[in-house]
Amino acid sequence: MRIDFNSSRVITCPFCFEKKYFMNCLSCNDVGARYWSDGKRNGPMLPEMSNVQKCSRCGKYYLRSRQQEQEVDDFNVSDDEPLTYQELKEAFVQLSAEGFDEDGEEEADIRFMLHYAHNDYYHREEKRPVSEEESKFFRDNALWLIRYAIDKDILKVEFYREIGEFEMAQKCLDMMQDTRFLWEDFANEIERRIKEKDSEVFFVSRHKDRRR
Ligand SMILES: [Zn+2]
Repeated sequence: MRIDFNSSRVITCPFCFEKKYFMNCLSCNDVGARYWSDGKRNGPMLPEMSNVQKCSRCGKYYLRSRQQEQEVDDFNVSDDEPLTYQELKEAFVQLSAEGFDEDGEEEADIRFMLHYAHNDYYHREEKRPVSEEESKFFRDNALWLIRYAIDKDILKVEFYREIGEFEMAQKCLDMMQDTRFLWEDFANEIERRIKEKDSEVFFVSRHKDRRR
């Protein structure tokens, strides 16, 4: 990975015009990145900036992909705390009220983030009890992703497993006869957990470069 220390990139809040600076990454890669079963990547060194931004001045949310990005001849980096799960949910409410793009990419993007943030908060950082309301939100979100956004069958299987739809998960896995071999150990591990009715997200230590 190479960062240009002589320049930065900048975007502007569409509501109050506050500027946000971030690193100009000349070549970013994810060599050595590792994956969770839900597809979330874990470092090392991924200075990836979220597409969902919260303005540090007015507190409104906006999509980075909709803003004109400019390069400036100066190294300047604004604070970039990742949004908390609660903030991401707020962002989702605000941004859906404003309307997403028609091809569904923006919505898919934020819904994936919500899925990962839910798993971070309730399963990865520590185990927290999930309320009925939260569980319904997680489920509806995952079903939307399965239907409209996930293109890999193995990930559909995994998302069904994570919302506790074990029968559907098994059914989808059984339908993967032609492609299951591509995932080998990962598919076997998911199947083992389906049979145990285990819906926990888990860390995938191998097959890290084959997905997404
Ligand atoms: Zn603002």
